[in-house]
Amino acid sequence: MAITTRPRGTNDILPAKIGIWHKIEDTIRRICHQFGYEEIRTPIFEHTELFERGIGEATDIVEKEMYTFTDRGQRSITLRPEGTAPVVRAFLENKLYGGTLPAKVYYVGPMFRYERPQAGRYRQFNQFGIEALGGADPALDVEMILIPIEVYKAVGLKDFEVQINSIGCPSCRTAYREALKDSLRENIHKFCPSCQSRFDKNPLRILDCKVKECIELTKDVPVLVDYLCTDCSEHFSKVKEYLDALNINYSLNNRLVRGFDYYTRTVFEIISVGLGSQNAVGGGGRYDGLIEEVGGQPHPAVGFAAGLERLVLALENQNMEVADQRTPDCYIAQFGGQTKTEAVKLAYELRQAGLWAEFDYMEKSLRAQMKAADKFGAKFVIVIGEEEIASNQVKVRSMVTGQEELVSLGDIKEYLIGHGGEKDGSMEANS
Ligand code: AMP
Repeated sequence: MAITTRPRGTNDILPAKIGIWHKIEDTIRRICHQFGYEEIRTPIFEHTELFERGIGEATDIVEKEMYTFTDRGQRSITLRPEGTAPVVRAFLENKLYGGTLPAKVYYVGPMFRYERPQAGRYRQFNQFGIEALGGADPALDVEMILIPIEVYKAVGLKDFEVQINSIGCPSCRTAYREALKDSLRENIHKFCPSCQSRFDKNPLRILDCKVKECIELTKDVPVLVDYLCTDCSEHFSKVKEYLDALNINYSLNNRLVRGFDYYTRTVFEIISVGLGSQNAVGGGGRYDGLIEEVGGQPHPAVGFAAGLERLVLALENQNMEVADQRTPDCYIAQFGGQTKTEAVKLAYELRQAGLWAEFDYMEKSLRAQMKAADKFGAKFVIVIGEEEIASNQVKVRSMVTGQEELVSLGDIKEYLIGHGGEKDGSMEANS
């Protein structure tokens, strides 16, 4: 195994590609704030038991996909495979339930699952997620759909589709489970081995199987929406009523169950039409029982998570490129020795003033430095030689007009700012 090869299922996001990530992350923050969601940052790793209890022992994630290890203190630790259980843990540990409810939070960060890598499916991937804890209002379920829609629209994603379903509460599901098992029992030997083992443990997950034969065999099974109790049915009607009032397009998918045990009532997924087999860009649902399952007092809650790599892929498929449009305010050319020291000093001074200054680190000739300035797209070039140091004046050449002006060393900062230098986040302002 070459140490210069990254582990399977991971990605390097290189500077040339970072523009699209910044655009997505900035958009997420802006839109979450507009909806009143604040950022939360939880650890990358948690106690394994949190995920076993939170996600459910009979789920693919817990059975097959977690990165679990024993640390030097003999504790079982797991790299987080998802963000909801950690947020619930933080809600309880930090007593956020004692503040204004619902607690509305969002997160952006890496998740880890030992899956079979392919385009759009990785072992380390980034998710953006939102959670509203301590609220049962169907208007919150709708916010979980609206926020990603607004993010996707704002970053320019085209052709995506919202699918919703209700999987009821444990009491409606008990009756449904039996009806489903009754309808599957006769043919269960024809299903794939995973579905056969799901039959007793978690029969609803059979509806989520991607194997063609299993999909075909479950075509006419009873659907959960027909088994909803009055409360769950009313809740689902409200969700649909609000979505209709907001003119949000969605389709009902009564096979949608999602991969976690914790969901109750509303579940939904957002599909990007052009993405091929890994086409879910995000999904979520209500998890009214999870907080109690993890050890707290019962609190209803609802959440959503979106994969950022898949969003980037979908945007790239639309040929969207987000290049960094910024260029250096100036390039400082020099001749080595004392002139290099002056260049190092001047660059630091300009950078402290919030300007972007570049100079040469590779002992290039003056000619090569001028080429580099051009390649950078620097707005101005300043040449510092022995003479310039002696006279305390330098020639500032505009790379746009070709015009040159003599400016004293102490005035360069003001000169560049006066000629369109972009002051972003001056360090002086913070000191
Ligand atoms: P989940 O947490 O499984 O509900 O997934 C939410 C979203 O995260 C999915 O819709 C995907 O966009 C993304 N996602 C989940 N697993 C992966 C993965 N292994 N690689 C890349 N993205 C993923």
